[in-house]
Amino acid sequence: MSNPYIKINNLHKSFGNLDVLKGISTTIDKGEVIAIIGPSGSGKSTFLRCLNLLETPTSGQVWIGSDELTAKGTDIMKVRQNVGMVFQHFHLFPHKTVLENVTYAPITVKGVEKNVAEKQAINLLKSVGLSDKANQYPNRLSGGQKQRVAIARALAMAPDVMLFDEPTSALDPEMVKEVLDVMKSLAHTGMTMAIVTHEMGFAKEVADRVLFLDGGVLVEDVPPEEFFLNPSSQRARDFLDKVL
Ligand code: ADP
Ligand code: MG
Repeated sequence: MSNPYIKINNLHKSFGNLDVLKGISTTIDKGEVIAIIGPSGSGKSTFLRCLNLLETPTSGQVWIGSDELTAKGTDIMKVRQNVGMVFQHFHLFPHKTVLENVTYAPITVKGVEKNVAEKQAINLLKSVGLSDKANQYPNRLSGGQKQRVAIARALAMAPDVMLFDEPTSALDPEMVKEVLDVMKSLAHTGMTMAIVTHEMGFAKEVADRVLFLDGGVLVEDVPPEEFFLNPSSQRARDFLDKVL
């Protein structure tokens, strides 16, 4: 029997009378890399945000490990510590150095000692190729460098899951690869990842599974080969005709 790490059961999210997620059910195994693809406004960000409670699901259940996020009284801060998130627009602290950006949450949220947090941060910055930028401020960095800092910052909390919401969409084309390469290495470490992306080549190469959302409905939930070569739905075929 398989024992999925993340379970999503009949997830609904509405804003007022706008139904954005209309009953999403799927599972994600430990170490799986999921690409979430779909037209603008289809609910991709909302879906991702329900996985770390940046949005509160309207109904349905989400489990990560043995924790039910949708249970009453769930410790939202604890969930967010375990589920790192990387945004399209980086969201770095502008008045903190790169090193301070990476050490801030471990020190203030987890109570890690400063010198220990700094050592870990230096190692993480090394792993994203930025150890020489530790003392810079974000406004001195390129977009690709900012996004790699944001990834290091999320990893500093030692999460079990990483969520990425269009991490390369705000980057100049020449910087996309350096960020995708960092994500690819992270995938190879066995990190469980859910990535909203328009990078079809990356999804094809790195994802274990593609979730195709359209109008708040999970239309396809299949391996990338199947999604890109032989999608079963007309909606996916129409979408791929436009983007490929
Ligand atoms: P995607 O990421 O696929 O582009 P989103 O999840 O951002 O889609 O949005 C899906 C729909 O939900 C859109 O119609 C959007 O306007 C709406 N929406 C998203 N967030 C909110 C919110 N906080 N309040 C009201 N409507 C929202
Ligand atoms: Mg979005």
